[in-house]
Amino acid sequence: MIHKTDAIVLKTQPLRSSSLIVTFLTRSFGKLKGVVKGVRREREPRSAFYELFTGLEIIFYEKTRSDLHLVSDAAVIETNDHLRTRLVSIAYASYFSELADNFLEVHDPHENVFDLMQFCFRYLPSIDPERISRIFETKLLRETGLLPYLDECLQCQAQIPGGGFFSVAQGSLFCMQCQPRIVDARPLSAEALAGLRYYTRHDPEECLKFRTSQAVDRELASLMERFFIYRLGQPMKSRRFMGEIQSFLN
Ligand SMILES: [Zn+2]
Repeated sequence: MIHKTDAIVLKTQPLRSSSLIVTFLTRSFGKLKGVVKGVRREREPRSAFYELFTGLEIIFYEKTRSDLHLVSDAAVIETNDHLRTRLVSIAYASYFSELADNFLEVHDPHENVFDLMQFCFRYLPSIDPERISRIFETKLLRETGLLPYLDECLQCQAQIPGGGFFSVAQGSLFCMQCQPRIVDARPLSAEALAGLRYYTRHDPEECLKFRTSQAVDRELASLMERFFIYRLGQPMKSRRFMGEIQSFLN
């Protein structure tokens, strides 16, 4: 079966001497892996198509017995060159790509995540990348059914108007009384909780205008990092890379 879809290049790995295995985020098929033959030959004009973050329209043959398909043709829709000119943009675009690769299943379409990725790529060079990260993270978690429960204490249903306690293992909020029974519950400030609720309940456009203090930014970044390390069982490569280049970013 032959299909056509919009796609973003998330990851590439060499295959034999001249081919590539490309992991795409596609609009119609979700995450998808395809082989592109002969693209790594010298002076091959198509090689630029498969640079990370590039927006393409691809045509692929669907293999029925394998998750690895054959990409027969592609046209560039967005080069997204603006993401590759600065180290900080490369780092954050890699982070979004790694998150999508880790949390989406193959052949499980999430058109909203495709739009979200385009949205975040568009604003990455002009808006604080940490704010874009909170938008990407919360919307991705909502789409994949992993969004933390923030309405009330998971244990006793008490309202938590001020700060509470958050457990990354449970992906949920707990009150002062219940938190001693939750092994990994850590304090979450009222401002950070309000910020997290805002990000989860508003559209990406509205979240762009939302501002939090630097302390809250740090608190939310650290909460998200712990959340993803817990889910994935290890730190993400792109976050480690960000740590390594930190001194160049400031
Ligand atoms: Zn409680």
